[in-house]
Amino acid sequence: MRILVLEDDAGIAGGLRSNLQQRGYAVDVCGTLASAWAALCSEPFDLVLLDLGLPDGDGGALLRRLRQSPGGQGAPDRLPDRLTPVLIMTARDQVADRISGLDLGADDYLVKPFDLDELQARMRALLRRAGGRAHPLLVHGDLVLDPAAHTVLRAGQPVELAPREFALLQLLLESRGRVLSRQQLETRLYNWQDAVGSNAVEVHVHHLRRKLGEALIQTLRGVGYFIPRDDAP
Ligand code: CA
Repeated sequence: MRILVLEDDAGIAGGLRSNLQQRGYAVDVCGTLASAWAALCSEPFDLVLLDLGLPDGDGGALLRRLRQSPGGQGAPDRLPDRLTPVLIMTARDQVADRISGLDLGADDYLVKPFDLDELQARMRALLRRAGGRAHPLLVHGDLVLDPAAHTVLRAGQPVELAPREFALLQLLLESRGRVLSRQQLETRLYNWQDAVGSNAVEVHVHHLRRKLGEALIQTLRGVGYFIPRDDAP
């Protein structure tokens, strides 16, 4: 999952980055409205963590602009998807600020300082909702992926996965029945600073197949990878 953090406090931003990366999220940090908008126009993000007080204006302005974007499913590339989940994080603890943030189109709100475990739980809830899922677990045959516990069970037995292997499996499970190209997977697994080898995704797929069996992840040659739906013949 690719996360955009808009936060001008370097300490907070760095803490968020390292905490979320440990959980397998790909994190990009921007410190200004202008750079964040440019980022949203250049990559698809799964979630935005938005600070309100920024050097070049109020985070609410970016939120308003995002919600008015013509981008979305079926729209031309390189327009931010107006449905991108946004969680506001700010020191402003006035009720009026919370209300105006939500009314501008934020999906959730945390007042600083907040607990990182609570932030992650709220992020999971937003990502689940954005993916159209009600159930917190991803279940596929005898495979169970738990995004909260960060565990994978196969026939009841735990399977050890590296953070990016876990993230890749989660992406494929959430998109069951849909082919994802190597490029689509790369943009959701890596941030700008990651040096991505040309075969990075293939290597992760190879490891997942070794740990979970060859049949789970299928290749559509020249197009990408997918996990077939449970109910497919
Ligand atoms: Ca700030």
